[in-house]
Amino acid sequence: MYFDVVVAGGSVAGLLAAREISAKGHSVLVVEEDYEIGTPEHCGGLVSIAGLEELEVIPFRKTFDHMIESAEISAPNKNKFLINSKNQKVVEISRRELDKQIAFQAQKNGTVIRVRTSFQEITNTGVRTNEGKIDCKIFVDARGVSSLIHKDRTGIISSAQYEIYADWIHKGQVKVMFDQKKYPGFFAWVIPSSEGKGKVGIAGKGINVAETLDSILEEKGNYSTIRKIFAPIWIKGPIKNFVEGKTVIIGDAAGQAKPTTAGGIFTSGMGGVYAGQAIAKFLKTNNKSDLEDYQKRWTDRFGKEFEKQIFARKILEKLDNNTINKLFETISPEIIKDISEKDDFDFHTGSIIKLLGLKGSIKTAKVLIGGEFKKLLS
Ligand SMILES: Cc1cc2nc3c(=O)[nH]c(=O)nc-3n(C[C@H](O)[C@H](O)[C@H](O)COP(=O)(O)OP(=O)(O)OC[C@H]3O[C@@H](n4cnc5c(N)ncnc54)[C@H](O)[C@@H]3O)c2cc1C
Repeated sequence: MYFDVVVAGGSVAGLLAAREISAKGHSVLVVEEDYEIGTPEHCGGLVSIAGLEELEVIPFRKTFDHMIESAEISAPNKNKFLINSKNQKVVEISRRELDKQIAFQAQKNGTVIRVRTSFQEITNTGVRTNEGKIDCKIFVDARGVSSLIHKDRTGIISSAQYEIYADWIHKGQVKVMFDQKKYPGFFAWVIPSSEGKGKVGIAGKGINVAETLDSILEEKGNYSTIRKIFAPIWIKGPIKNFVEGKTVIIGDAAGQAKPTTAGGIFTSGMGGVYAGQAIAKFLKTNNKSDLEDYQKRWTDRFGKEFEKQIFARKILEKLDNNTINKLFETISPEIIKDISEKDDFDFHTGSIIKLLGLKGSIKTAKVLIGGEFKKLLS
């Protein structure tokens, strides 16, 4: 069997790459090891409308759940502030449906998709799957964080997310809770899907995520769990080389999810789009620089923001609960108004700088992260 391109991983990045390559008339096979595209859903489903537009995916009615109107951010001592996020135009979508929608786009362009088919290894002429050998010119690794686990475990932390019914979940309001003792280096979240239904999750370094999430839910009040997922997330930013010979690495497999929140529908998705376009060009010209153009485009677009997010993450990892509580006391209504009006969901380090008061208090920043703080401000 021969295809110009074989993509391992039928999720957002792999399917977008396949859509772009097959749009130019090349033959593409996507192999997905799970039994259904979009399942199991390991995602909160938060994405900006601007991001979806750039990915060229206008959500179907069944993909789109609802608009997010505000985000409540709370400190370990339960002090909180509310950001009005209407201007950011963020939606909560169903990943099960979104991925199927992209699969449909790819299929319409000529992509062939096989579920319950897993990539096993690269061969001299292509790849081996559990269903046999397939020859190809280019192999695309879109296997998500599972592809990184063998390369570098140091950037991986555990996460748990439960889908629950609970009358304390309110439509339109996301919640983010910081507590360095309970979820070191990360946070807990509540993402509503509708009134009384949503996803509650946590991630953190060196913790038992299931036990921690169970105890948060016990504190919150009555709830029923309808689904549980446990997934590793990658917080170290992009890997060094997106292209290795005839292998092109995209999406979470290339570290393209945000180092601050691990959100990657947009940034990993764009990795798929840029890679797909570069591969299509390479298949025409056979010019290696066309293939390498993918890494350049992604880095031009997201490289600087990701560097800043990695530094923002370093700051968070150095803060203890007392310092976070104190920082919350310094957040004025003017800062909240400024963030509400100007924040960009996809490029959010500007808001982090404002929240940390870094511009006004260089001294605090220096104490927190030494000389490196300049990189965050640049
Ligand atoms: C708990 C949680 C919540 C999240 N919430 C958000 C959010 O709200 N917003 C946001 O933007 N992002 C969120 N993310 C991140 C987002 O889910 C990812 O960035 C995005 O799914 C990455 O897409 P991908 O295509 O690169 O990889 P994945 O979506 O990880 O897809 C990889 C695919 O490869 C398949 N695969 C793996 N190995 C093989 C193999 N050997 N052969 C064939 N197939 C294989 C897998 O089954 C999977 O379908 C969240 C992540 C987690 C874990």
